[in-house]
Amino acid sequence: MNENKNKKAQEIWQAVLGKIEMKVPKASFQTWLKDTSGVAFDEQNSTINVKVNSSFTAQYLQERMAGIIERELNNVSGKTVQVNYLQGSEIVRSSKTDSTSTTIKKDPKNIFPLNPNYTFDSFVVGDTNQLAFAGAQAVSSNPGIAFNPVVFYSGVGLGKTHLLHAIGHSLRNQGKNVLYITSEEFTNQYIASIKNQTTESFRVNFRNVDALLIDDLQFLIGKEQTQEGFFHTFNELHMQNKQIVVALDRPLSKLDVLEPRITSRLSGGLTADIQKPSYETRIAILQSKASTLEVQLPNNIYEIMAKKASSNIRQLEGVLNRVAAWSQFNGNKATSNELLNFISNDFDFSYQSVPTFTSEDVIKAVCEHFSITKDQIKGKQRRKNFLIPRQIVMYVLREETSMSLSAIGKVLGNRDHSTVLHGCLKISELIHSDDNIKKQIFNIKDTLLEINS
Ligand code: ADP
Ligand code: MG
Repeated sequence: MNENKNKKAQEIWQAVLGKIEMKVPKASFQTWLKDTSGVAFDEQNSTINVKVNSSFTAQYLQERMAGIIERELNNVSGKTVQVNYLQGSEIVRSSKTDSTSTTIKKDPKNIFPLNPNYTFDSFVVGDTNQLAFAGAQAVSSNPGIAFNPVVFYSGVGLGKTHLLHAIGHSLRNQGKNVLYITSEEFTNQYIASIKNQTTESFRVNFRNVDALLIDDLQFLIGKEQTQEGFFHTFNELHMQNKQIVVALDRPLSKLDVLEPRITSRLSGGLTADIQKPSYETRIAILQSKASTLEVQLPNNIYEIMAKKASSNIRQLEGVLNRVAAWSQFNGNKATSNELLNFISNDFDFSYQSVPTFTSEDVIKAVCEHFSITKDQIKGKQRRKNFLIPRQIVMYVLREETSMSLSAIGKVLGNRDHSTVLHGCLKISELIHSDDNIKKQIFNIKDTLLEINS
């Protein structure tokens, strides 16, 4: 019976992973999902236990990927399934917010340990994050006094959580009682305390900290009652000069969906945004991460990575991790060209899931690249100068968009789907045998990515 449960869990989870892998960037998949496994499926209660190797992974999956995981689980199993994330034999997170799930550890400090890698030392300071960094340091030297509250905001993967943890480490090293919590977990605990009529102990729990670091506060949007709870917690701490630090994915001015009195409280301290890092900072970050990983790569490799992965630092790290792993796997003997090759493959994959350009964008990019006209690329002539670019358009459209073969044929002068299929296959072959073509396609995709951003 137990064995059956396990086998079913494995099957279901593998199927879910298979589906998610096609929908999320490769970096996220590798980082968060690749090493998870389904270990038990309880048919009757519709729960699946999934093993993860850190509580961080569990936290991430639950906070950032819950939607897609839930959907795919639903698709695969045909019903709504609750996920319990297990580390060892212990449930560290659960998708069930219901307070009756008693297996979740209740002490908030245990739920969110600080990531040991997220320190001030490992944070690379550049133009776009220096105010936030300075604010974080000021808070660490003078908690509750320098700026209170401190609010960080930025898009994803730009260092907010890193800074919150760095503050946490620093304050804990000074013997302070620090609570780091996501606002989602705050919500869960608050709701549970109302249900269980333990709001008093909830308050005491939070009131007794020297610093409250609350991540992703935007989760409170639309949760009026929890906002109320947060407002009171905030006031109690603030009145006692306890430090409050908040991370948000958008500026306060765009937070009008939160209660005005909360936004007004939040704007009373220091607000610091973090923007995308500059090219130079991205290189510095890569070099710093590489030295932590104990790998050394040629400079041009960092440059390429920094050029390609510009949207956030998590993505940058993902690329570096894979290149580093690959390079170590090859005994650190890979030549610059081999590394380059690896990276270009890697980028081909990781960008598959951002198909936001149109067929016309692709045709235009390819025409410009080869200095030919749209009529030539769509026309009947089978000269190599037109044929290859035409086939590249087919290939790129097939790879980067969800267009069908016949739809692609249609935009390319009404060709039929078998011609398109042939073209795609031709280019797939060439990519493996002809480095020059590969680079050209790489450049074209680059142009498209720029259109995208
Ligand atoms: P956010 O919370 O803003 O989404 P994170 O703090 O989780 O982003 O950062 C994503 C990843 O990028 C983390 O691994 C973090 O260590 C790294 N990172 C972000 N900013 C920096 C920086 N300035 N220096 C070094 N690493 C950084
Ligand atoms: Mg974060």
